[in-house]
Amino acid sequence: MFFVEVVLPLSLAKTFTYRVSEAEFHFIKKGMRVVVPFGKSKMYTALVLDLHQNEPNLYEAKEIDQILDERPIATEIQIKHWLWIADYYMCSIGDVYRGAFPSGLLLESETVISNKPETIVNDSELSDDEFLVYEALHHQSSLRVQDITSILNKKNIFPVLQKMIAKDIIVLEEEIKETYKPKLIRYVKLHSKYESDNGLNELLEELKSAKKQKEIVLAFFQLKASEKKPVTVKKLTEFSNVSAAVVKALVEKEIFEEYLLQQDRIVYSGEKTDKQLQLSQPQEKAFLEIKECFAAKEVCLLHGVTSSGKTEIYIKLIEEYLITGKQVLYLLPEIALTTQLVSRLRLHFGDKVAVFHSKYSNNERVEVWKQTLENSSKAQIIIGARSALFLPFSNLGLLIVDEEHEQTFKQTDPAPRYHARDAAIVLANFYKAKVLLGSATPSIETYYNTQAGKYGLVTLSERYNNVRMPDIVLVDLKDKHFRKRMTGHFSDVLIEEITEALSLGEQVILFQNRRGYSPIIECLTCGHVPHCQQCDVSLTFHKHKNQLRCHYCGYSIAKPTNCHACSSIDLTTKGFGTEQIEQELSSIFPNAKTARMDQDTTRGKFGFEKIIDTFKNREVDILVGTQMLAKGLDFDNVSLVGIMNADNMLHHPDFRAFERSYQMMTQVAGRAGRSEKQGKVIIQTYNPNHNTIQQVTTHNYTGMYKEQLYDRQIYKYPPYFRIIKLTLKHRDFDKLKEGSMWLYQVLSQNLGMPVLGPEEPAISRIRNEYIRSILIKIPHSQHLGNTKKTIQKMLNSFEAVAQYRAIKVVINVDFY
Ligand code: ADP
Ligand code: ZN
Ligand code: ZN
Repeated sequence: MFFVEVVLPLSLAKTFTYRVSEAEFHFIKKGMRVVVPFGKSKMYTALVLDLHQNEPNLYEAKEIDQILDERPIATEIQIKHWLWIADYYMCSIGDVYRGAFPSGLLLESETVISNKPETIVNDSELSDDEFLVYEALHHQSSLRVQDITSILNKKNIFPVLQKMIAKDIIVLEEEIKETYKPKLIRYVKLHSKYESDNGLNELLEELKSAKKQKEIVLAFFQLKASEKKPVTVKKLTEFSNVSAAVVKALVEKEIFEEYLLQQDRIVYSGEKTDKQLQLSQPQEKAFLEIKECFAAKEVCLLHGVTSSGKTEIYIKLIEEYLITGKQVLYLLPEIALTTQLVSRLRLHFGDKVAVFHSKYSNNERVEVWKQTLENSSKAQIIIGARSALFLPFSNLGLLIVDEEHEQTFKQTDPAPRYHARDAAIVLANFYKAKVLLGSATPSIETYYNTQAGKYGLVTLSERYNNVRMPDIVLVDLKDKHFRKRMTGHFSDVLIEEITEALSLGEQVILFQNRRGYSPIIECLTCGHVPHCQQCDVSLTFHKHKNQLRCHYCGYSIAKPTNCHACSSIDLTTKGFGTEQIEQELSSIFPNAKTARMDQDTTRGKFGFEKIIDTFKNREVDILVGTQMLAKGLDFDNVSLVGIMNADNMLHHPDFRAFERSYQMMTQVAGRAGRSEKQGKVIIQTYNPNHNTIQQVTTHNYTGMYKEQLYDRQIYKYPPYFRIIKLTLKHRDFDKLKEGSMWLYQVLSQNLGMPVLGPEEPAISRIRNEYIRSILIKIPHSQHLGNTKKTIQKMLNSFEAVAQYRAIKVVINVDFY
């Protein structure tokens, strides 16, 4: 008898055994997908992990339904990596499989599909089955795969649907909510008939009498020569000071050709610059040191201050790996950052750059998946957020993790709760590839690893072009309030500096790490504060929408005019967010153009890109925003950064609060003065003497590192201890309390290491579920694998207690 061992896209810890025929056994390879029945009547796309002849003894193996692939679409290294993730982060292999595959490759009987409205379908090109599905979807806007099974009266219809997805006729329901429409940019080039050496002369001859048009052609060449990159219509019209209509006329006359370019999509048809990248001397030195370091070590940290030109060093390094035919993976902490980076990389590498991220449609993701697997020239460099780590690389040589300190590299929900930086290092190990971590503010863990000799360290301590580090000025809010030097939340110093920057035509960034107008509305008569009905938090006031909103569950109500408790109309706000800052700006600087960048304004499809573009194009003078501003953006005209209030970051109840505050402030400050002039940063705070703030002011990373490291050792935190956080949730407060106490006791009795809790977190109820957490601190002297096994055993026995079974337990290894 012949069997395959498969993983299902479900949260099940086990793999499952299915029967195959002898012929199938010889055809199937590890990494191919098969359709299998599961449960009473469900069908799933499963992945073959192994082939064997051992009959399972606990259940009778069912037969597979169908083989979906002709060749493996996942690699053995990839599967090995998934197994490592499941084991290390204590989740099921099914969780990893489901998270790794684009859902278009993972059809199951519950999947809901619809027709794709934009696609024009030619009936004659459809097979009979495809036609039936297409027809059925005209009568009912969406159908479950299960329903289609009965329409077609066939057991397995996955291959039919897969073809229809590939033809862009149908889409998965989940996609409809967020289909990614890449932004198109218009470019012009000289018409191909003038491409010969003498072409330009001929053209100028032709245009002898058309003075205006001749000027535009010359302007085009000037632009092309100075910028060494494709010329956009926008640039050309601005530069030659004509309207777009004139350019259009030239296109119609076949002097120019117009073409569209997607800013960060998979297709690329533009030109790349032949400009050789010229590293500055400090960059060159760092570059050589990195290569030297790679001769001896697998991982190297590039600790380069903000605007030191790390990206250019990455580019130079990527060049070397591409020459040897290797693939390069470039991980970013945030999808929104890809646009800026992709444009920069495409200038050098043209169409060798592929982007993989969750906002792309299934087809696009599947395309990159296949290109990666085939080591296609179109996917030599893959840029993505953390999930790009799951692609089927065939020849990976280099992994770059930019802004490695960012906490978004750690996935919180759902499982697998992996850290992309750490998982990248493990993956590199499997491929014998190298990892370059980059940051201006490395995480304590990473820096510790360099000090311990585990990773190499290369430091770049000056900015590119010899620009000086920004000058950081502290403003004592207590003193300013006392002396009545505040206008709203702006100190006189900040107002003065903004006024000056604006008068010089420079731009300003203001940072406040909280969105909305104010986090609290309070009744002045009775002190009542409106709270969310389902969560243990106050409702945030959003003035623009005149709403009170819960930032945890989305619940909202219209802003009350009277207190809910005593009907008084004396309501006041407490605390402030970006919305309030923007409003104050409009009265203090009525002539300045302002914009806001936070979750509320960037929600739309291109919200983020649009704001960045308008700011980059200097259509906005002052940009107010949350932490989104701290993530590696490159603006060349910002001379002033204001941090409205440094204190609420510092007071976060979290052992990483000081480290994070340092990183956040340093990164935001780093947006100032990136091109020529030294930038200025104003930090408003009630605690100007706080160590962390002093360290930011003096650019003293090492000071911050040493102080935090000392605390981490004393209080038993990473890098000295590994942390596993268990979060327990249940709707019944008493049951949760009892259950978490039970689990805590069992763990602390059996583990022989610090176990803290069960603690009620600052927000102890979300969506009507109460929350408790338990923190396990594992010293390096203890075997990590064995400890996890013991924890798993305790969790199993916890689940075996009938009255606790309904309590959800979330395991977060290396909690961030
Ligand atoms: P970092 O990532 O270290 O903050 P960037 O790589 O964004 O810094 O570089 C900062 C700015 O300096 C960018 O605008 C970049 O184009 C410019 N720059 C850096 N290195 C070079 C170089 N070798 N040649 C030309 N421009 C450079
Ligand atoms: Zn009241
Ligand atoms: Zn809520």
